Amino acid sequence: MAFKLFKNGDQLYDEGIDLINRKEYNGAKGKFNDALSKGTGKAGMARMYIALIDLLRNRGTPQNYRTLIDELKTCGQSGFKFGLTDIDAEALETECTLAMEEINASSMDDGGYMEKGQALIDVASKYASLIGDAPLKLDEISKGNTQSTGTRESLVLQAMAYECMGTGVVLRNPKQGSEYMQMAYNFRRQIGDSGDRDYELMKNYAKSCKCWICGRPASGEGIHFMSIKSEITPMFREKETDLIRTADEDFRSIYICMPCYSAFSNRADDISREYFTQAMAEMRAMEARIQAQIASLYTEIRLSR
Ligand SMILES: [Zn+2]
Repeated sequence: MAFKLFKNGDQLYDEGIDLINRKEYNGAKGKFNDALSKGTGKAGMARMYIALIDLLRNRGTPQNYRTLIDELKTCGQSGFKFGLTDIDAEALETECTLAMEEINASSMDDGGYMEKGQALIDVASKYASLIGDAPLKLDEISKGNTQSTGTRESLVLQAMAYECMGTGVVLRNPKQGSEYMQMAYNFRRQIGDSGDRDYELMKNYAKSCKCWICGRPASGEGIHFMSIKSEITPMFREKETDLIRTADEDFRSIYICMPCYSAFSNRADDISREYFTQAMAEMRAMEARIQAQIASLYTEIRLSR
């Protein structure tokens, strides 16, 4: 009887492997759990496969990588198959460790942008040195994507790092912000992304102007100054001879520094709010009058019947 139970566990394990080959991961996990409860000589592997399936279902939780690393160590196999993919246990462990570091670095939103950028760059350099041009197995088995490699992931993370630092530093130093965006753009191009957004920000951060209203110089369009549609008559156009411009080249907009712009916007908001409140009060009064008229009409109709 004991022998039969043992054999059943092994059979269930094999059925689990079969379901992985058919990409039926939920079913496979069920078979591995059944195999474990019946008892199997491959208990370590069954637990490892369960951990791997759980991880593939949710790759955003660091604990799932930690559990898989533990199970890989416990089962002691140097390699195994997952469907058609051959997996080296040590390489997968490295990938899991880096993935956890990547999640931690990406979610560093409380600290400064430079710290977060640096943390992303640190993980990026590990992807390049520890995995390099080898494919990332988790992407291969979860998305069928054999294009993602350590090198590619490293470039993605470097782009993210410079985007993060550029977005942060531009508040104090637009020139530096523009340089970081250029680097992010170069990394995006290397991985085949258009990098359009980074390129746009790089140009905007590098742009300088003089405020039409207060005359202060400002760099970094969209951050430290805005371009606002305006009617610029020929007399003003002819006076625009400075290298640092107060209006765009087609004379369709003037440049306004952020302090002037936000002061006007805030004042305009206040004025519209006052008008809105006044209009609403008048509408309510009118509604009350109409309701009263309707009520008196009803009364007249009832009386005339
Ligand atoms: Zn100004």
